Amino acid sequence: MYDVVIIGGGPSGLTAAIYASRAGLNALIIEKAGCGGQMAITDALENYPGFSSVNGFELASKLEEQARNFGAAIIYEEVVEISDGAVKKVKTVGAQYETKTIIIASGTNAKKLGAAGEENFIGRGVSFCAVCDAPFYKNKTVAVVGGGDSAIQEAIYLSKFASSVFVLHRRDKLRAAKSLQNKMLSHQNISVIYDVAPEEICGKEKIEKFIISNVKTGEKTDLKVDGIFVFIGLTPNSAFLQYVALDENGYIIADENMKTNIAGIFACGDVRKKHLRQVVTAASDGAQAAVSALDYIEKQGDSLVK
Ligand code: NAP
Repeated sequence: MYDVVIIGGGPSGLTAAIYASRAGLNALIIEKAGCGGQMAITDALENYPGFSSVNGFELASKLEEQARNFGAAIIYEEVVEISDGAVKKVKTVGAQYETKTIIIASGTNAKKLGAAGEENFIGRGVSFCAVCDAPFYKNKTVAVVGGGDSAIQEAIYLSKFASSVFVLHRRDKLRAAKSLQNKMLSHQNISVIYDVAPEEICGKEKIEKFIISNVKTGEKTDLKVDGIFVFIGLTPNSAFLQYVALDENGYIIADENMKTNIAGIFACGDVRKKHLRQVVTAASDGAQAAVSALDYIEKQGDSLVK
């Protein structure tokens, strides 16, 4: 039986594993894909303390190494269910793990556009990751949908490859931080088109045009683009949870000590209801979740031992 099973290997889960295993807990991370989460597909983090700029994949690899060095185990499986009790169970597609505590650090996934034609082109023209796919668009024209930090950060990254980048935003004011907006201004090949909504992605083998409409006038425009990058926000990975309290958007409700409504189950990082979703706040959450798990185990004492 594990002391703590951590669901998700992003910055919050890895930090929880570092703190838990360093404190002597027997910790297991169960990660669906690869460690690092959203951070691993971020080209440059410029606001992580101590680094003027650091590549997200590199930082993720360092966190993973640190967690392993302290003794945490990492397996790659998808969690489908968790159950409560003095001994908690975490079920994956092919196995079941017993544990005294659970830390949910399952993060978020990119939202899809919902525009006609989108599904046909996912993976062959429609992308949710600039770092992964930007090199395919060398000297081509791309559209970025969204007006938040991700959209602007990724548009800047894409501008190093594509000849033109159109940022399409549904309002007349960007949501992204001013610092990112200012940085974008120095990239001459990025232009922002305001007040537009995606309508349809058209083409046969590849994308030929992106039909967008002006939300104020209804006027439709055919945008000739080779690729479309979608950054319109995130949905929490919480659908596998049955008894853990969620807010109306599916984020886990946990207190400042990362405690959920169920004793011994903690939540941290982007999947938690909170105001600021950053790598640094994810790491902070992870540290707190591990300390809360340790407190819980110490207070429960022998009652947790099978
Ligand atoms: P976000 O902040 O939720 O922004 C989503 C953007 O997409 C908004 O501009 C929104 O428009 C637009 N949008 C939403 N639904 C849409 C739809 N159906 N069609 C068209 N546009 C739509 O999401 P995010 O940019 O992915 O960021 C997520 C979190 O990560 C945020 O907390 C962000 O601060 C953080 N983050 C931080 C950094 C950094 O610090 N460098 C980098 C990346 C992400 P409205 O503005 O009209 O709502």
